[in-house]
Amino acid sequence: MSAQALVMAPKEDPWDAALRQFDRAADHLPLKRGIREFLAYPKRELTVHFPVKMDDDSVRIFTGYRVHHSTVLGPTKGGIRYHQDVSLNEIRALAMLMSWKCAVVGLPYGGAKGGVVVNPKQLSVNELEHLTRRYATEISIMMSPEGDIPAPDVGTNPQVMAWVMDTYSMHRGYSTPSVVTGKPVAIGGSQGRIEATGRGVAIVTREAARYLEMNLTGATVAIQGFGNVGSVAAVLLAKLGCRIIAASDTSGGVVNTRGLDADRLVEHKNRTGSVAGFPGADAITNTALLELPCDVLVPSALEGQITEENAPRIHTRLIVEGANGPVTPGADDVLAARKITVIPDILANAGGVIVSYFEWVQGLQQFFWTEEEVNENLERIMARSFAHVVAVAQERRVAWRTAALIRAIDRVAGALYTRGIYP
Ligand code: NAD
Repeated sequence: MSAQALVMAPKEDPWDAALRQFDRAADHLPLKRGIREFLAYPKRELTVHFPVKMDDDSVRIFTGYRVHHSTVLGPTKGGIRYHQDVSLNEIRALAMLMSWKCAVVGLPYGGAKGGVVVNPKQLSVNELEHLTRRYATEISIMMSPEGDIPAPDVGTNPQVMAWVMDTYSMHRGYSTPSVVTGKPVAIGGSQGRIEATGRGVAIVTREAARYLEMNLTGATVAIQGFGNVGSVAAVLLAKLGCRIIAASDTSGGVVNTRGLDADRLVEHKNRTGSVAGFPGADAITNTALLELPCDVLVPSALEGQITEENAPRIHTRLIVEGANGPVTPGADDVLAARKITVIPDILANAGGVIVSYFEWVQGLQQFFWTEEEVNENLERIMARSFAHVVAVAQERRVAWRTAALIRAIDRVAGALYTRGIYP
């Protein structure tokens, strides 16, 4: 029985989508039934409901999660998301994706994810700090430098990681910087971490363009989600010669087919809080942005953006998944039939966890690298991983997503067979 059939979940649910993707790849591997189920299921899941004292002295109850998907390859690694739509199934799916992401690029980690159901924009800085410190305390039974190492995700940032690290350290009685990555450099963060995911997106886009014999000079790029990942990807793709023609965030989008100045767009976003209203550009909705004719489409907002419904109207050659899970399995089929290539999330956005791994290693050794060393090592791992995935795709005659998942699942399964089933 497939892992998907074992879990009842609504259609297009992120966990359902993650299981469908898993099943597609697992079908190519000679996995025993029990092993296949074990690989699909999260190892442990924690749900917490906790109080936070708000600025007006009222008390609000929040719900948070931390899920460890797999501990086969090593400690678990995965971000913490603050978003009003966070659900256990979303966190499960993202934790599973983290397992495959770490495995496909060869990191000694399993996957995890955490999240709190909250719109962080509606909290004051004080409230955000209180919420973070209480959530960190609640999940501290799941977290440690040797066991589970969180990082930023949507709605969290280096400051939030600093609070998590400080809270954990206060409980221990000594500083434990390696309990989180994506920290500010001043407290043990790594050079290059903030840019790492967007940099990785640019590296795999360059590698894919070379493979597909596509000239990036003047290639048009549309970016959905102009946050940490999308904005850095835009700046670096522009440096590679691409023409950024559209970008969006939750407050709206902008388009100019002659090109947008990526650096100025970042300045505008930092100053105003949104890309909307950028001078010299027209407004565009998020729906229209996805359907804009372009050479490269970079969804870097949230999951489930390109579905069976809108996939027939996507007009691009290459989709680079900056976000986790932006293309649903149903949409993958439509895109494949239309010869649109997808660089899957577990490869395309792995730059963040790769540099998080460097940060963790630097923290444990108390020996810090230059930004050049970080970027050179990131470049090497991203390019090597891309080549491995393409080789599997050619050998098995499958799409890059399935190839990446085959490589990742095979690696975790191999480690599991070698370790054996306890007791
Ligand atoms: P972020 O919060 O910095 O940025 C997200 C951006 O998307 C914001 O600009 C937000 O306004 C926008 N957005 C949200 N919903 C949108 C919608 N429906 N349409 C258009 N824009 C929308 O988050 P981030 O860290 O850049 O993460 C973005 C994605 O990348 C997530 O899927 C995350 O899981 C994934 N990711 C992030 C990292 C990392 O290192 N930050 C690493 C790997 C994957």
